[in-house]
Amino acid sequence: MSLIVQKFGGSSVSDAEGIKRVAKRVVDTHAAGNEVVVVVSAMGDSTDELLDLAGQITTGGNAREMDMLLSAGERISMALLAMAINERGGSAQSFTGSQAGMITDAIHGKARIIDVSPHRIKTAIEKGDVAIVAGFQGMSQESHDITTLGRGGSDTTAVALAAALGADVCEIYTDVDGIYTADPRVAPSAQKIDTISSEEMLEMAASGAKILHLRCVEYARRFGVPLHVRSSFSQHEGTWVLPSPDDKIKIQEENPWNSPSFPALRTTVPKPRSR
Ligand code: ADP
Ligand code: ASP
Ligand code: MG
Repeated sequence: MSLIVQKFGGSSVSDAEGIKRVAKRVVDTHAAGNEVVVVVSAMGDSTDELLDLAGQITTGGNAREMDMLLSAGERISMALLAMAINERGGSAQSFTGSQAGMITDAIHGKARIIDVSPHRIKTAIEKGDVAIVAGFQGMSQESHDITTLGRGGSDTTAVALAAALGADVCEIYTDVDGIYTADPRVAPSAQKIDTISSEEMLEMAASGAKILHLRCVEYARRFGVPLHVRSSFSQHEGTWVLPSPDDKIKIQEENPWNSPSFPALRTTVPKPRSR
């Protein structure tokens, strides 16, 4: 039995049909004998629409209230996806970021995950349920207010949970069938990459490739989480982003993350499982 974290981006859940398509894939993965944790983004362009709505009401924008507003997008998709899975005969429970134990610092709009305590997620999957977690959000350790992780942050939620749960793989489902040498929508001659090291992917993300949230790649490398970036619209094999076996050791020696700009991500419970 494998533990798989599946993250579905906004384009994969842009309408009811998309949510039902995702539900089928999740139920199939679970029925194949895997434990499944799903991280979901807000539907389609709904985060942009919420930002636009706020802009019609206020120009200043209160950072705390903005995070309350934006985190609502992922709550909608998580609940609808749980309903769609249950409708197909599966058994799913949805959780907000704070219910899932995503603890962050207090920087609204660009919070960093500083601890992950996914007790409730672990209990749900041990019971045989699919656990669905709202991406992109957490709760401040200091103020207990809701925070968001920055645009595209659901990727980072997925990898942080995968690390904390000791998942075998973190699958990132999107609207292209993998990582290309350049954005295939801008450069039609770009080539699909089958496998790339976390280190090379980190360089690509840092130099602006917008396919994965930069911090998600940093966590994947640091915690040795294999990523599989693939399309939710097909069954094709996507791109594997693989940490090298000694990445974790090297990183401990170099300790590049242990700086004020990258506080340690702690995963209190449960410890990664040995398989
Ligand atoms: P999601 O809503 O699933 O999170 P994103 O919009 O964040 O999707 O990421 C998917 C998009 O990333 C693709 O539609 C593609 O246009 C873009 N993209 C940018 N750079 C790359 C790249 N190097 N390889 C593949 N896709 C890329
Ligand atoms: N919904 C958020 C955004 O649009 C987070 C995400 O999609 O990952 O940026
Ligand atoms: Mg994204």
